[in-house]
Amino acid sequence: MEADALYFVWLGGRVLCVSEHGVPRPVTADEFRWVDVEVTGKHYLGRWDQRACYALTGEGTAPEGFATVDLRALLGRVEPDFFYLAGRAKQIVEWHRDHRFCGRCGGANDAHATDRAMHCPNCGLTAYPRLSPSIIVLVRRGDEMLLARNAAWPTRMFSTLAGFTEPGESIEQTVHREVAEEVGIAVDNLRYLGSQSWPFPNSLMLGFHADYAGGEIEYQDGEIAEARWFHYRELPNVPNGTAISRWLIDAFVNERAAAQG
Ligand SMILES: [Zn+2]
Repeated sequence: MEADALYFVWLGGRVLCVSEHGVPRPVTADEFRWVDVEVTGKHYLGRWDQRACYALTGEGTAPEGFATVDLRALLGRVEPDFFYLAGRAKQIVEWHRDHRFCGRCGGANDAHATDRAMHCPNCGLTAYPRLSPSIIVLVRRGDEMLLARNAAWPTRMFSTLAGFTEPGESIEQTVHREVAEEVGIAVDNLRYLGSQSWPFPNSLMLGFHADYAGGEIEYQDGEIAEARWFHYRELPNVPNGTAISRWLIDAFVNERAAAQG
């Protein structure tokens, strides 16, 4: 055992942490030796900062000196590397939990000998961890950007438009379709700015800027409660800096501010 290996231990959907100067961090293998938890699964994640990292599942509760933390509660509270590693751990643990049996023939799956995959010895079907590509896009019109408020969000927060890619679709087609479906306008001149792993539950978000190309904002009751143009100097309440939507917004604001001198 490498004593300094990092363990992302999942207990009832929450990750076991210790608090260091008020900030949660994953437990080390050495610390975990003293924790009274029955381990039900262990998966190698890779190396980070020259330390081996594992995702573990277990039965039990956090003993004194430890706490279990919801993954969402780590957002913005811990360094991004830790958040993404915890997100990777959670996705791998949940994928194993959900693929113990073959989806085609119902037989029991085995872990694949070499790949991160589950394999059915009965019918030969191999299942790989599922990722769901999705787009997130900031639509621009001069000094303004289009932001929308989701009806399901608890706070009065506005963000960029987003949606999942459908089978057979290119990522560019997803951008055009989602913008048309959600707010009824056309866009062009797509620019890819970057991506973010978003483990709620297994998204890979590809972030774009796009230019307004025509149409009036129109949305159906339901998913979107409100959508409108905002001047870059008059931002509403927007997501915090951990979210890719905020990077897209900040990139636009900084670019317009620099252009104005
Ligand atoms: Zn099978």
